[in-house]
Parts: sequence; C-alpha cells; structure tokens
Amino acid sequence: MSATLHFDQIRLPPECETLRRQVRAFIAEEVAAGTFDPTDPRQGDLHNPELTRRIGARGWIGMTWPKKYGGQERSYLERYVVTEEFRAANAPCRRHFVADRQSGPILLKYAPEHVKMDILPRICRGEACFVIGMSEPGSGSDLFAAKTKATKTDGGWLINGSKIWTSNAHMSDYMLGLFRTSPATKENRRHGLTQFLVDMRTPGITVNPIYQLTGEHDFNEVVFQDAFMPDDHVLGEIDGAWKQATSELAYERSGPERFLETIYVLIELIRALGPNPDLRSAEGLGRLVAQLHTLRRMSVSVNGMLQAGQEPVVEGSIVKDLGTVWEQKLPARVRELAAFLEPEATNRTSLEQQLTYATLIAPKLTIQGGTTEILRGIIARGLGLR
Ligand SMILES: Cc1cc2nc3c(=O)[nH]c(=O)nc-3n(C[C@H](O)[C@H](O)[C@H](O)COP(=O)(O)OP(=O)(O)OC[C@H]3O[C@@H](n4cnc5c(N)ncnc54)[C@H](O)[C@@H]3O)c2cc1C
Repeated sequence: MSATLHFDQIRLPPECETLRRQVRAFIAEEVAAGTFDPTDPRQGDLHNPELTRRIGARGWIGMTWPKKYGGQERSYLERYVVTEEFRAANAPCRRHFVADRQSGPILLKYAPEHVKMDILPRICRGEACFVIGMSEPGSGSDLFAAKTKATKTDGGWLINGSKIWTSNAHMSDYMLGLFRTSPATKENRRHGLTQFLVDMRTPGITVNPIYQLTGEHDFNEVVFQDAFMPDDHVLGEIDGAWKQATSELAYERSGPERFLETIYVLIELIRALGPNPDLRSAEGLGRLVAQLHTLRRMSVSVNGMLQAGQEPVVEGSIVKDLGTVWEQKLPARVRELAAFLEPEATNRTSLEQQLTYATLIAPKLTIQGGTTEILRGIIARGLGLR
C-alpha cells in the first residue's frame, strides 16, 4: 500500500506577526542589556536561568498548554514564531527548551493530575529544567533494545543501569526516562518499556560528563543504582511506553530549530557582504535563502497540521531530514562564499569564529533526535515503500 505526502499550504495568521514583533522587541532589549551576544556562536547551546525566567514571565514557555497548568492556550503556530525568533537570535534557551517542546506535552497527556499541577506551572515560570533519557550504550536508534531496568518494589520502582548522551543532565531538575519493566515478547519486541518522571536529585543517580568536540560539556552519562521512583512517577501505560516515546519524537522533530541551529553563519555572511554583493555572492546567497524559505514553508505546514490535530509523522521526518542535512552543509557553503569577501569586511573575524564553531558542531545535527538513515526508513515506511 502506498501513501501520499501532504503539506497543507499554511500561512501564519496575523496574531503571529504581532507576537513576532513583541518577541523581537524583547530580544533586542535583552541584547542591549548585555544578556547575550547573538554573534557568539556558543550562546545558543547555553543555559541562562534568569533569561528563562523572564521568558516564562512573558508567557512564552508552555504557551499552548491549558491555563490551569500555567499555560496560555495559544496556538502551535504562535509557539512556532516564538521558537523561531529565539533560535534565529541564537538566544541561550537550553534551560527551558526541552521541557517546553516535549517533556511538558508528555506530562500533560500521561502524568497524574497532582503531578501536573505541581510541575507544569513551574515549567511555565521557567523554574524546571528537563532532559531526555532515551539513549543507552547499545540502544540509540533502536530504542526498543533499552536495558536499564525498573524493578517493582513497595510504593514504587528501583532503577538500575545507565543512559548516555543525556544533554544537560548535569544542570537538570527532571528527566523523562524510558526503562525496561518487562522483557520484550516474541510477538512484540516493543513491549516491556515504561516511561518515568525522574527527579534528578534522587539518591542513586550519578551524572558523569562527556565532552564535545568543541571542548564543551553538555553530554552526560547518567548512572542509576537502586534509584527509587514513586508509583505516581510512572507515566502512562506500564510496559506500553513505545507509543508515548514515538509521539515524543514527533514533537522533537518538527520545529524550526531543525534548520536554524547554525543560522548565525548565514546572517553574519549577509552582514559581511553588505547591501551590494557581487553577482557570484548574490547568486550563492540567493540559493541558500531560497532553500531556507522552502524548508520554513514545509516546517510551518507541519506545525499547522499539528495544530489541526493531524499527525504528520512522515512530513515531520522529511522536514528534519532535509533541514538537518541543509544546516550541516551550511558552514561549508558560507565558507565558500566568504572566500570572495573584501579583506576589509568588518566582521571577518567574527564570521571566522562562527564558522569554526559551526563546523565543529555540524556532525551532530544529523544524529540528534534520530539519524538521517532512521528518518529515511520512517519516510519509506510511511510511503509504503518498505
Ligand atoms: C547532540 C546530541 C544530543 C543528544 N541528546 C540526547 C539526549 O538528550 N537524550 C538521549 O536519550 N539521547 C540523546 N542523543 C542520542 C541520539 O538520540 C543518538 O545518538 C541517536 O539516536 C543514534 O543512536 P546511536 O548513537 O546509538 O547510534 P546507532 O543507533 O548505533 O547508529 C549508528 C549508525 O548506524 C545507523 N543505523 C542504525 N540503525 C539503523 C537502521 N535500522 N537502518 C539504517 N541505519 C541504521 C545510524 O543511522 C548511524 O549512522 C543525542 C545525540 C546527539 C548527537
């Protein structure tokens, strides 16, 4: 059976443009106050708890969630605009980004009411940092091979094993972790995993750093030794978490952050070329901007479909695949175009620093959130090709 791809022609409604102006004004104030330098390429990977709290006070974290949990009941498209503006400005939003994008929506669906009432308002105020506890040594793409075990005990569960590549675990308050509560069955190898809300201050949890190519510390190994999780921290169905984890990945894959992570090099190149670039540079730049525009139209479309209650899993995977491959190649393309810059271009040094950083982080772009090969497998299956 074959399926067709569907990208609705979605335009951002007028309220999104009003919101965009408000977010831009906020960012301009923060930059003017010295909170962050948008031309410093590392900023987008950093935590800034005070900035996160100020963003929360504006109602821009958890903004699609119900008001009773601290949300604003605004649309996915409005959230899209907020994400897009902070990402394009390279603002340090790592402290709240995971909770806003995926952990909060999972809690909304699966956590007991008292847990939602406790944690969701704190996320919205920018006071709770979440991490993703899926990958393990030997279980990255194949999540269903996860071995870290949750064993039933009085009033809860004891966790033993380890997670790996856990971004920001050393600074986080909570993890949404996927643990093995039963063996897989012959009929269903996805059976036997359960999702838990993990308080990272629980005794028995150790966080060990893993350093990036850039020398920075955002990855970790998280080791669990008889770490106790209370029963009310089980999220959703025991042994049936594979569906939840898959829908969590859909949130993770569909946003504008999937092609804007190294966008600062394009912005800096435009600044360096000035208003009258030579023909060759203008042509190269035009190509990049046209490709970016197309990616954005596709990504807005996916978010519009999410807003309409659809599940554009294949379309979201296509945006992530095209977007991450594009942004991975961006530093090299910008470097080629920068070769034609006048030696006296004022921001040459800053562009060079950005290109060095973007080149070092580029390999990760097509791995995080699902590798290119895995995405293409999902797309092929969705199209009925495998
Ligand atoms: C920057 C970054 C941040 C991350 N943050 C987190 C985090 O916070 N939490 C978390 O849980 N994980 C995180 N990860 C881990 C990430 O999700 C995994 O690295 C990813 O899923 C791939 O798993 P793996 O590294 O085990 O590689 P493997 O699964 O071993 O894959 C190795 C290679 O084999 C290919 N491959 C594997 N299976 C297939 C298949 N069936 N068909 C075709 N090709 C295949 C892959 O595409 C890849 O090229 C992060 C990764 C990165 C790079």
